[in-house]
Amino acid sequence: MSDQETRPPSDFIRDLVRADVSAGTHGGKVCTRFPPEPNGYLHIGHAKSICLNFGLANEFNGVCHLRMDDTNPTTEDQEYVEAIQRDVRWLGFDWHDKMFYASDYFGRLFEIGEQLIGSGHAYVCDCTEDELGRDRGTVTQAGANCVHRTRSAAESLDLFRRMRKGEYNEGAKTLRAKIDLASPNMKLRDPPLYRIKRSHHYRTADAWCIYPLYDYAHCLSDSFEGITHSLCTTEFESARELYDWVVAAAGMPWVPRQTEFARLNISYTVLSKRKLLELVQNKDVNGWDDPRLPTLAGLRRRGCTPEAIRDFCARIGVSKNLSTVDVALFEHTLREDLDARSPRVMGVLRPLKVTVESLPSGTVEELDAPYWPDGREGSRKLQFTRELFIEQDDFAEDPPPDFHRLAPGRTVRLRHAFIVTCVGVIKDRDGNLLEVRVAHDPKTRGGDAAAGQKVDGTIHWVSAEHSIPVEVRLFDRLFSTESPGEKGGDFRKDLNPRSLEVLQARVESSLQHAAHGTRFQLERLGYFVVDSDSTSNGLVLGRTVTLRDSWARAAGKAVKPAARVKPVSKQTAAAPQELNESASALQSRLGISADEARTLDGEPLLRTLLEEAIAAGAAAKDSAALICNDLLGELRARKLAQALFGGAQIAELVGLLRAGTLSSRLAKEVLGEMLAGKGSPAEIIARGGLTVITDSAVLEAVAFKVVAGNPELAARFKAGNANVLGALLGIAMRESAGRANPKALREALEAALSGK
Ligand code: ATP
Ligand code: MG
Repeated sequence: MSDQETRPPSDFIRDLVRADVSAGTHGGKVCTRFPPEPNGYLHIGHAKSICLNFGLANEFNGVCHLRMDDTNPTTEDQEYVEAIQRDVRWLGFDWHDKMFYASDYFGRLFEIGEQLIGSGHAYVCDCTEDELGRDRGTVTQAGANCVHRTRSAAESLDLFRRMRKGEYNEGAKTLRAKIDLASPNMKLRDPPLYRIKRSHHYRTADAWCIYPLYDYAHCLSDSFEGITHSLCTTEFESARELYDWVVAAAGMPWVPRQTEFARLNISYTVLSKRKLLELVQNKDVNGWDDPRLPTLAGLRRRGCTPEAIRDFCARIGVSKNLSTVDVALFEHTLREDLDARSPRVMGVLRPLKVTVESLPSGTVEELDAPYWPDGREGSRKLQFTRELFIEQDDFAEDPPPDFHRLAPGRTVRLRHAFIVTCVGVIKDRDGNLLEVRVAHDPKTRGGDAAAGQKVDGTIHWVSAEHSIPVEVRLFDRLFSTESPGEKGGDFRKDLNPRSLEVLQARVESSLQHAAHGTRFQLERLGYFVVDSDSTSNGLVLGRTVTLRDSWARAAGKAVKPAARVKPVSKQTAAAPQELNESASALQSRLGISADEARTLDGEPLLRTLLEEAIAAGAAAKDSAALICNDLLGELRARKLAQALFGGAQIAELVGLLRAGTLSSRLAKEVLGEMLAGKGSPAEIIARGGLTVITDSAVLEAVAFKVVAGNPELAARFKAGNANVLGALLGIAMRESAGRANPKALREALEAALSGK
């Protein structure tokens, strides 16, 4: 894991560990463990526990053990052990040589059982499971002692040894702790410690026919290994007393401490190995690594990175309060992670043929297209040919009013290529659209509009001849309800029947040799990954996540695309001191400032705009800043009754800001134009030449002029006063009318000052 990665904020467990370390508890050591049962694959809920346990060890110079909690022979398997190890490693954690198996302790656990009998802390009981249940009592009623409880230690010891030898049938006898059948804690009413099970164990084979129960094996394993902090989920809260009792009764010299935290739940999915196993066994999904599953193997195959999962775990934090995390937060984290690491390429999911009438067949216009929106190094060649494919959705014969794509007579930019105008369509005898005819403007090579040329929008495309056919798998949420099975009945009834859609699509030729696991963004369509089902005969792509939140829209949750922004009332501007509950929820969900949360909470229309911008793929923080500072300021200043744009345009603006195409000053100008109803950011920029200057020749000239014009400042800089650079940078920025890319300008200035 990289050092730059943000550490999770502190929480009650970290506070507790820190206090223990400084008080010298356990000799100031920290030793945690992640104890999965190898009866299924790990899911993202386990990732929360892994990040916590291994994270603590990393932060406090301790160690974290990986322990297979393998005391139930009927459900466990070596396949799962290997999958668990693979997933923990993939997440970025290392147990070094600290790999343990509870099954390795069977011998010691048996001896401690004998010892507990000898010291009067346990007895062999012949009650059946039904009798045990009946005699346990209820929460309001004490349980009843059975006749076996008063057996002599010698008799119990003899029976326990004969249980081990296999003299009894399954269920005939148990070893029980002798505690208190009247205890208010049901867990302490003489719980079973050992049971007879005639099953083959994946590691100990048939060496044992009695197996220890979790409440007995787990705490003792922790003690054997010198665990300091035994962290588990809150279901085990009532088991803590038993945990402590067993460790004390056994006279263990090492006393670990159990602390509980809330398990992770995520909406629209299930985080239970039992339920996941059911889905796999019923073939509702295609194996444990089906990209629709919340398993780590599934998420990996889906194209999620371990960094995104760790980041998600850090964001949700650790507390004792049970809650369900909105899956949208997870998807949002994914988008943020993928945005930074995915080169942009093009593909067409549902191809519609386009013929460029103005280009002779056989002509190939080769175009250089950058992979990155921020102008980072790296580009690939695109082939612009007479026959192309565009997205079926990007053409409408009879376009609705706000359609910014291709239509008869309309002009659009084909991304990175040329500006084209639709000059006709071809249909079959039944009136079905077969192809669209366009003419291209050769002067617009690279996609630059000529002065005054009006462009309706930018769409993606591929060459019909040069593109490659691929299978694309689009995933939707696995369940169509927020809490599957909540309303009773089988949780599988809530499966979303449309969670997988398979398309025959086309992608640009640069992807020809993309290896399994390669991630990229298909512009306007989402983040994709090359699936392991790909062969030399054909690529299979899976969509990791869309750019926008299509689900919320389909479910009718999202508001209309063009939200009208009302002037903001004074009332909302007067900020209260404390954040109310909904504002504070907004703040923690989006990671925005308290002021922004307050503003947004008080103004639903601004909030809608923000949600839309996020849904359109923009970063929450940037969008909130733009909306709460610039837009709100403009709205107040202009006293405008309404603004005619939606979150998608905010997202576009945020994207341009992020990519460095616009400085924040220019973005404000563009926003002003948008408010005046002058069109989308791209259109305004195309019209007004409002882009950031990155051209090094221009910046060098500015830098040279500023250095020459301010000899005194330049001399002070050369004499070693580095602070002067800021002043010079300010002058140079003004010289460029606020249009220079600040980083590039700074470099140009430094070069000019050093006389290069
Ligand atoms: P499941 O309910 O999925 O079967 P489990 O608790 O039975 O989970 P284990 O293999 O025993 O699965 O879990 C190993 C560790 O992971 C335990 O310490 C458990 O508390 C933790 N864990 C399991 N599920 C979650 C979750 N949803 N959130 C946080 N931690 C979890
Ligand atoms: Mg468990």
